[in-house]
Amino acid sequence: MKLGCSYFGNRILKHYLEDLEELREMGCDYVVHTYSENDMVFCHAAVADMVAATKEAGLEAWIDPWGVGKVFGGESFSNFVMQNVEAMQVLSDDRPTGAACPNNPKFRAFMQEWIQAAASTGAQVAFWDEPHFYIPTWMGGRPNTWGCRCAHCKRLFEERFGKAMPYEETDEVRTFKEASVEEFLRELAAGAAAKGLRNALCVLPPRDSAHGTANWQRLAQVKPLEIFGTDPYWYAAKRSVEEYVRSASREVVEIARRNGLEPQIWLQGFGIPAGREDELVRAVEIMCEEGVANIAVWGIYACEHLSWIRPANPKLAWERIKQAFRRAQELSA
Ligand SMILES: [Zn+2]
Repeated sequence: MKLGCSYFGNRILKHYLEDLEELREMGCDYVVHTYSENDMVFCHAAVADMVAATKEAGLEAWIDPWGVGKVFGGESFSNFVMQNVEAMQVLSDDRPTGAACPNNPKFRAFMQEWIQAAASTGAQVAFWDEPHFYIPTWMGGRPNTWGCRCAHCKRLFEERFGKAMPYEETDEVRTFKEASVEEFLRELAAGAAAKGLRNALCVLPPRDSAHGTANWQRLAQVKPLEIFGTDPYWYAAKRSVEEYVRSASREVVEIARRNGLEPQIWLQGFGIPAGREDELVRAVEIMCEEGVANIAVWGIYACEHLSWIRPANPKLAWERIKQAFRRAQELSA
């Protein structure tokens, strides 16, 4: 059993060392460090110090392109998008949106710069966190639109299908988006491997294809990939823990095994409603029942400091997360 936790919201080493000790005591084998565009520009050496401390404590250090280009998951903003409006995704209403296009060559080049910087923090694993095309329900989204119809996407679609890209999100458009995310990930994984990083991928759990990552089997074949997982956040999705966590765990384990990968599932350690903290332990039991041997929680202290997703009772939630990790260790012993 491997256990991990994401870490963000602090760049002061003195405080990190205290938090790291708590993570070590609760059984964590690795820490997923967010490394946003803000970190890349303003806190690079500070993140490198934290990565070094993580490794010195005997834990593995992962690095996460948190919100980079707004193509990955995460609450940080993107300077790349602000400075490169021509690299934005264009929606079906012919207007741009605040996210870079995975098919844009300038963004692809920028991601290689990110990889170079991320690797130079000393991190060991690149964590490809929820790569996706524009999601209308996310911040700033416009109802009944989809992306991307930028010049690059339109040209690539036409090359593949021999006709102009339609305004309707047809099956061919969805196939095109899936292929685009796959190719984007291939380039990232190869770039990261060339810098000595191992690769882990976390795909969004909804299996509709609007975001371009519904075809898990296809994405699990990206090489070189070592860890494949998803984050079935059942409180956020308003689904039952029994059904949502179990079905996601089962599918991930099956696809990971078929492709010789390590299955990983993320535990929703944020936005926990009052009185439902015990579900955290149950979620981990379900993951173990389905054969998951790599569990991570998002995130440190149940995200009390990321207050828009703060649990109703953060201290109790964090205690239950620790209890859940102990349960995972018991079940795998
Ligand atoms: Zn595009």
